Amino acid sequence: MDYTTIIGLEVHVQLLTKSKIFCGCANLFNPDNPNVQTCPVCLGLPGSLPVMNRKAFQLSVKTGLALNCDIASFTKWDRKQYYYPDLPKAYQISQFDLPFSADGWVDIEVPSTGETRRVRLIRAHLEEDAGKNIHDESGRGADSRVDLNRTGTPLLEIVTQPDIRSAEEARIFLEDLRLMLRYLAVSDCEMQEGSLRCDANVNLHVEENGETIPTPIVEIKNLNSFRGVEAAIEHELKKQVKAWQTDPRRMGEVPKTTVGWDANRNATFEQRGKEEAADYRYFPDPDLCPVTITQEEVDEIRSTICELPGVRRTRYVSELGLTPYDAGVIVDQGAEFASYFDEVCVTCGDGKQAANWVTQDVQRELNERKLEIGEFPVSAPVLGAVLKKVVDGELTIKSGREVFATLLSDAGDGTRISAERIDAIIADKGLGKEQDTGKIDAVIQAVLDRNAAVAEDVRNGRMQAVGPLIGQVMRELKGADAKDVRQMILDKLQG
Ligand code: ZN
Ligand code: MN
Repeated sequence: MDYTTIIGLEVHVQLLTKSKIFCGCANLFNPDNPNVQTCPVCLGLPGSLPVMNRKAFQLSVKTGLALNCDIASFTKWDRKQYYYPDLPKAYQISQFDLPFSADGWVDIEVPSTGETRRVRLIRAHLEEDAGKNIHDESGRGADSRVDLNRTGTPLLEIVTQPDIRSAEEARIFLEDLRLMLRYLAVSDCEMQEGSLRCDANVNLHVEENGETIPTPIVEIKNLNSFRGVEAAIEHELKKQVKAWQTDPRRMGEVPKTTVGWDANRNATFEQRGKEEAADYRYFPDPDLCPVTITQEEVDEIRSTICELPGVRRTRYVSELGLTPYDAGVIVDQGAEFASYFDEVCVTCGDGKQAANWVTQDVQRELNERKLEIGEFPVSAPVLGAVLKKVVDGELTIKSGREVFATLLSDAGDGTRISAERIDAIIADKGLGKEQDTGKIDAVIQAVLDRNAAVAEDVRNGRMQAVGPLIGQVMRELKGADAKDVRQMILDKLQG
């Protein structure tokens, strides 16, 4: 069976605004206090009128620009009619034929093939979220409730072309999208809380006798984890392959279906038949003005976009000489972490040194202390100043680590940490690098004299014996560089 996998995604993202999209109610995830963030507007009471949240629109335009979309200078609101208990107005305010943005793209790197793949975007539009139906909380099977706290939360819908060719690519697309949205600070993208969720449209293009035959499209709704996205798509693809192999003629008769994903059973289950656009009876919302935006306003928003993950990764590799792996580790930690790294790097002037410390020493401390980088007591300029001394040869790496550890314990005692503390610590602990080769030479000679048998072993080529000799020298000369000491011992013993 010769076929191509065809996947398109629809992603819904809740925007990080203070208030809802058409009223002043708080936009908070608050499942423990249902129905407290409501008002006549988001409850859809007669006579209430919506007013657009400017911030929600700006965050959407910012995202559209980052997704390489064209921003429309004129856009409007439409009503999408359907009845559901969590939709009190019995319509959703959305955008139909004139979305605020269209025709974008995202490039993704696929590790398993080493390929860069471009996923084109059909559009991104803004709409309001529905509430939440809660079924059978008691477990007795007789209990359904509605929480309208979420009703009217600003929601960005991003629709891809069917350009995705595997479940793995779908997961990577979503992971990259989430990282980008977090860099943009437009959404917290907490998938468990539903602030980033995804529907996948999946089918096969089967090649047979020189003909391409599409199998019926299955839409998998409301996937809310990366694992779920990958597993659900894999599952549907296998089902489609099997159905084709069982009876290709019957596949043409199956209508487009909508399924849900049951992560516990690792299987999809059938839901209602998928509506077509006509079923929603879209029409322009008479209560809301269309929105216009000037080129100056678009440029203004564009200027607030920070350096995005893909660009950053490339710069770290090509300009700083990091490995793609290290670049990825830093970028994946988020915008604040990457900015911390950038600042350490600028202060010490050595990208690789900065990367080593930030991905190892700093990250280990953050994990142990359960801190975010913004709360880390050793600021980027201070760490950068320590590393500058290492890079300039004034401190050994080992002594640098001791300065770093001392700074951290100082912070624990409430001492203010500044770059001036570094010199004080170095002086206190005698960590300055020993530059006096005459002094080092004398200590080495004394150690060799005391350990004549071991020295003889090294002279005869038993190289592992050199370690203990270095250790003895280092105990007497804290500021010496172990590598230099090793070389000096070998020079003495082997001429
Ligand atoms: Zn409200
Ligand atoms: Mn939608």
